[in-house]
Amino acid sequence: MFYKRVVLILLFPLLTVSSLYSNNIKLSFLKPNNYFEKQIKNSLKNSDSLDILIDTLNSNFTFKKEIVIEIGRNTGPLYENKTNKILIPYIFYQETYDMFKEAEYEKTGITLKEATIDVFIQTILHELAHAIIKIHNLPIVGKEEDIADSFAAIILIEFFKNGDEILLTSSDAFKLYSNKYKFNQEDFIDEHSLDIQRFYDSICYVYGSYPIKYKNLLKSLNYSEDRKLLCEEDYIKNVNNWFHILRNYLNKNRT
Ligand SMILES: [Zn+2]
Repeated sequence: MFYKRVVLILLFPLLTVSSLYSNNIKLSFLKPNNYFEKQIKNSLKNSDSLDILIDTLNSNFTFKKEIVIEIGRNTGPLYENKTNKILIPYIFYQETYDMFKEAEYEKTGITLKEATIDVFIQTILHELAHAIIKIHNLPIVGKEEDIADSFAAIILIEFFKNGDEILLTSSDAFKLYSNKYKFNQEDFIDEHSLDIQRFYDSICYVYGSYPIKYKNLLKSLNYSEDRKLLCEEDYIKNVNNWFHILRNYLNKNRT
């Protein structure tokens, strides 16, 4: 399931007056411990995609508290309640990069670096969902992990020109994780859905967001017509519900 890269641009042009933005989501890097971590830090720091992600979030949302995305702690990816930080270790980049490399993912036309950063973006948005659920006491019902994936999918598709491409790359990562590891009992007990389910869910969001464009996407995956229709209905329902849930945190002057 491989897709060609489209240059990441915003759905709406950014305002040039940055003071209009809330600036309450920040990206910070801890000091690398070795040469490899330094390389990863440089790679992430030089990524336009991550800058655009932060700018887009700040120009469109104001949350009650500042949320720091901290790269380089020895744990994660996770949202840490007590510090209100999203933590992602440098090794997450390396492991993701290596997994794509092993799968020769660059043959898709997407470089290993781009694919890895796509997974970073989906992961940041997933953890951001945990953060805003906690900060605003959002009354969610059901598996928070699935809800966080739903948030990441809707934000990507609705706020980024090529968010669907990012989501497809990160869905490929779920498929690769799933191929790599055999299920055991812990996976069924775990709060997350299985990686292979997260793969199918992501694909379903992408298809549901634009069924005409993605009419061939589900063909090889044996989705029934009923299931495809449900992907469409669920996507619209998710968009409406997220915009309703987030209405108080969406900037009035959003771009
Ligand atoms: Zn989570």
